[in-house]
Parts: sequence; structure tokens; C-alpha cells
Amino acid sequence: MKVPFSYLPRQFENPDPILAEIRDLVTRGALTLGGPVVQFEENFARFIGAQYAVGVGSGTDALFLSLKAAGIGPGDEVITAVNTFVATAGAVETTGARTVFVDCDDRFVLDVNKVEAAVTERTKAVMPVHYTGQPVDMTALTALAEQHGLMIIEDSCTAIDGEVDGRRCGSIGLAAGFSFHPLKNLNIWGDGGMITTNSEEIRDQLRLLRNHGMADRDTYLFFGYNSRLDTIQAVVGDYLLPQVTQITDRRIQIAQTYDAAFAELAPTVRTPVRGANERHVFHLYIMEVDHRDELLAHLKASGISVKVHYPIPLHLQPAARHLGYGPGDFPIAETQAGRIITLPCHQHLTEEEVAYVIEQVRGFYR
Ligand SMILES: *Cc1c(COP(=O)(O)O)cnc(C)c1O
Repeated sequence: MKVPFSYLPRQFENPDPILAEIRDLVTRGALTLGGPVVQFEENFARFIGAQYAVGVGSGTDALFLSLKAAGIGPGDEVITAVNTFVATAGAVETTGARTVFVDCDDRFVLDVNKVEAAVTERTKAVMPVHYTGQPVDMTALTALAEQHGLMIIEDSCTAIDGEVDGRRCGSIGLAAGFSFHPLKNLNIWGDGGMITTNSEEIRDQLRLLRNHGMADRDTYLFFGYNSRLDTIQAVVGDYLLPQVTQITDRRIQIAQTYDAAFAELAPTVRTPVRGANERHVFHLYIMEVDHRDELLAHLKASGISVKVHYPIPLHLQPAARHLGYGPGDFPIAETQAGRIITLPCHQHLTEEEVAYVIEQVRGFYR
């Protein structure tokens, strides 16, 4: 049996309903911003429970432009988790600000208890990453940020439909970035992203930033960027948005099946920890295991697409050399990097495929 990580061929087996809407759009020739983008922004904001949403070119741009709109630039520091996807730090560094890393906890997200020690007089913002779909403890982080006068920009790229303490990921900070990359839980047919915010000022700034600083056709208020959400992609996103809750529910169901099946393998296999006050959306199902490399090879040989997110924490990447970190600086993330494995956990897996993954993992440790 083959158990694929990518579900795109199954998800878009019948693309006709979406193509019909795109055909209509193309024949009208309205291909930048316009109605479909506005409609998707409004529906998206409502789904997240934020006042406003602004569509942009990618999740990375959503983070970068949020930081820019918040006024972050050279001389500033932004605190974030060391075990995130490269784009989080990339967005910070592209503003000219400095990335300050903090270690993660056993849930693979920012350890809020370690944030305070990283605050300096240059710290302007903290960027919690709801990594893997696991929400950060936003109640504690918000209290800390208020105490130190820090802005919160959420990296919600992997956390659409996530919730913590009764609030949706992306509705809590000053602004939040989402990604619609083809392998994110809400996925379009290429790159795209969205920013949610409750601040009218940030919204207005973002609308200018994504479109050349253009107030009207002939007036440029500042030199901006071209990072508009593609109108064709807004059609795809708006079509799929009503499916997100079901997608999340199915992912959670598969995660619970894995949890129950691997409980007998503890502590050799440690399934992802989560609290009762959280809705973890399982963009990734990551376990910590003994003999990780051997398990990885065994599952690959069995036809199961397994991955490691990620084998090298960001502070040890060549790109981070100027930040001056070294081995031993973030022991939790470094230890996890050698022990983590990501199992397929998407909404298009069949019961037989889930059962096969379980059988192969159990078989390996027997
Ligand atoms: C995917 C991702 C991004 C970047 O999104 P793109 O749309 O690929 O630019 C940022 N942060 C995290 C945690 C991500 O997983």
C-alpha cells in the first residue's frame, strides 16, 4: 500500500465547480483585486472572528507586511520560536529587524515561560507561531505582552480553525498571517495569504502596502510592494472556506485514532500533547520517538510518506549565522529535531490507510 502525504490529486479529482467560476471571471477580465477578493476577505474575517481581512500574495508576505504595517524595521527586535518554518524568521529579517529566538515546549510551540528573559529595550513585538496547528498559550502571552508593551503578530499560517481559551487563532493579536499554500489546511492552486486584524489603521496600511502605496490611481503615499492576493485564487479559497471545519474535524479524528493506537508504545513513542482548552487543527501530526531514523526508513520502505519538520532548527541554519547562536542554545528544539517524525494526517486518508500506518509503526517497535 502507498500512503501519500499530498492529497491534492484526491481533493481536486473534480475541479469543475471551481473552474466554472474561474471561467466566468476570466471572460469578464477582472483579474486584479475586485469582487472575488473582497468577498473572500469578508468571509474569511467572519470565519476567524476578526474585524478585517486583507488578501496578499503568500503567508510569508502576510507576516512581513503585518510587521511593516505595525511599524517594525531596523533597530527593532522581534521574538519568535526557534522551531518554526523558515518563513517566520524570513519575514522578520526582511523588515530589517532582528530575530530573537526562544525555545519551544513539549507541544512544539513557543514556550511562553521563556519569553520574558528574551525581552530587551529594543523588543517591539512577539510573533507566536501556532505551529503544526497547535495554538500557543495566548492568554499568558497576551498578559506578558501587555506588561512589556509588546505587539503580538500571530503566525497563524498553519492554524486556520484553531482555538485557544475560546478564541480563534488569528483573532487575538494586533494582526495575524495565514497561508493558503497547497499543503495548508485551506489550500488554493498556488501561493496566497491573508492577514486578519481588528485594527482599522493596520487594515488601511496593509491595503496600501500590498498595492504600491497607491491611495488612488495617481497618488502613491509611500513606496510599497506588489503583493495582492490573486483574484483567481480568491475564487478557489472562497469555494473551500466552508469546508474548513469538516477538514479540521476529520484531521482531529485521525489524530485521535493515532493517539489511541500508539498509547501502548509510550514512552518509546510520545504522541502530541494538547490541552482541553485548545482546538489543535493538525496541519501536522508530529510524534517524538526513539530510533527515529530507523522508523523513518522503515515507514518509507513500507510506502508511507513520512517527513521530518524539521531536522535542523533555525538557529543552526547558515541563514542565521549573523544572529550569533550556536549548538546548545535551544536544547528542547535541538533534542526534538533528532526525535520527531510527521505522519500523514490529512482529510483524504482512508480508514485502511490509517490502519496501515498504525500497523507499520507498531510492527517496527514490536
Ligand atoms: C507555510 C508557513 C509560512 C509561509 O507561508 P507561505 O504561504 O508558504 O509563504 C509561514 N509560517 C509557517 C509556520 C508556515 O508553516
